Amino acid sequence: MVTQYDIVVVGGGPAGYTAAIYAAKKGSKVALIEKDRLGGTCLNRGCIPTKTYCASAELLMKMRGAEAFAIKDGGVRPEIDFSALYERKEGVVNKQVEGIRQLIKGNKIELFEGEALIDGNGKVIVECGDSRSVVEYRKLLLATGSMPAGIRGIDIDHRLILDSTDILSLKNLPSSLLIIGGGVIGVEFAMIMSAFGVRVYLVEILKRLLSTEDSMASRIVTNRLKNLGVDINVDTKIEELKAIEGGLKVELNNKKSFVVEKALVAAGRIPVLNARDDIKSHILNDRGFIKVDSHLRTAIPDIYAAGDIVGGMMLAHKAHYDGEIAISNMLGENREVDYSAVPAVVYTQPEVASVGLSEEKAKEMGMDVKVGRFFVASNGMAMARNATEGFVKIVSEKSSGKIIGGTVVCESASEMITTITMAVREGLEFEDIEDLIWPHPTISESIGEAMRDIKGMAIHKVGI
Ligand code: FAD
Repeated sequence: MVTQYDIVVVGGGPAGYTAAIYAAKKGSKVALIEKDRLGGTCLNRGCIPTKTYCASAELLMKMRGAEAFAIKDGGVRPEIDFSALYERKEGVVNKQVEGIRQLIKGNKIELFEGEALIDGNGKVIVECGDSRSVVEYRKLLLATGSMPAGIRGIDIDHRLILDSTDILSLKNLPSSLLIIGGGVIGVEFAMIMSAFGVRVYLVEILKRLLSTEDSMASRIVTNRLKNLGVDINVDTKIEELKAIEGGLKVELNNKKSFVVEKALVAAGRIPVLNARDDIKSHILNDRGFIKVDSHLRTAIPDIYAAGDIVGGMMLAHKAHYDGEIAISNMLGENREVDYSAVPAVVYTQPEVASVGLSEEKAKEMGMDVKVGRFFVASNGMAMARNATEGFVKIVSEKSSGKIIGGTVVCESASEMITTITMAVREGLEFEDIEDLIWPHPTISESIGEAMRDIKGMAIHKVGI
């Protein structure tokens, strides 16, 4: 017997499982199809495992700097117990996967565990081992996500040359690691691995690390990585990467050559979709992502798409947002996506969090901007926590006074960026939030000061 569902969701990552729950809570009869583990890339191979490692790296760095807090360590340098950390990471992930399974069940969503082939004409074929089922839909959401991209000329063999999924499966730390790519994933792994005592070489073809972030943020992270001993090579290409006895021989076009035990390719992500060719030719763009309109509709009626598969900012919270917008539209609402205030975080120490337009990007777009800055070195709480490296920068449009972006670099920046996100999203001006009372002492007071600085009114800053 074939059951027809109001909504079928393909992909159980942040876009798909949240969309399925949202649709079920709105009263739809929903089926969710997942070929691997619930939670998708984010939970199993991305956000959560990396942040579990980041948490240990952060604590390790704090413990090694305990003297600054007048704590004696007795001369014993804390080290990572990587096999215990691996188990901890697995525990965190498994618990969350189980939590999602319970949510799916509790919301009466039918879960199909198998690989979906998008067949069109209201049907999806699900294959699991030898069994094959047909699932019929009124509306279909494609949330099939992405996978690690390769680099031309470099063969990811998953043994010596790894992608981000492979490195998270390692049960032992390599003694040395070449990281190819200085974007978010490469930089986060550089910090984790160097804190854990791995000799790290980082190669980036562009002129600076974290090239989409504010240049001052990129400078701070670069210096911190250098202090941790990372050998950073920007504006650099790999000339040779060859397997030799005991590892990989690396030659760079800046004349450096060295041997590493493993290499990690961190060069972005590519889309994943299993559909009939005629469907693909209808809905994909030339880079393989699904083309959607502002309501997340594809070119085929009743088929919507959400998350990494539609490209743009490939982030879990953006995927979740997409999923809800798509479901709302399937249910007859009229919601358009607005990506002007999607926060992004790099979980280094200090953290880098940004939203909206950076100063450089706004100027590149020909906008006339006014900028407010505040260095956290002048903030009492930052001093108390010995976390004085960093700043808050707020970008406003000169003509309207509206806040159009901001960057926060400091401890807990990820928790602080939401205030600026709200200001950008709501189109607020400094005057709208002049009376906001910030709790004291907090590092977030620096956001208030940076906003005041747009008008030359920061209290803890000399001059106008
Ligand atoms: P995915 O999470 O990729 O989920 C898609 C799901 O669809 C998968 O489970 C897949 O198995 C399933 N699927 C695909 N094809 C089929 C099929 N034919 N049939 C059935 N199932 C199918 N983002 C953040 O916001 N914060 C972070 O800190 C962060 N850190 C990251 C760190 C790393 C190392 C990586 C790789 C990514 C990180 N991301 C982070 C990005 C984040 O993981 C993705 O943006 C997010 O997972 C996208 O969600 P999605 O639902 O669109 O796709």
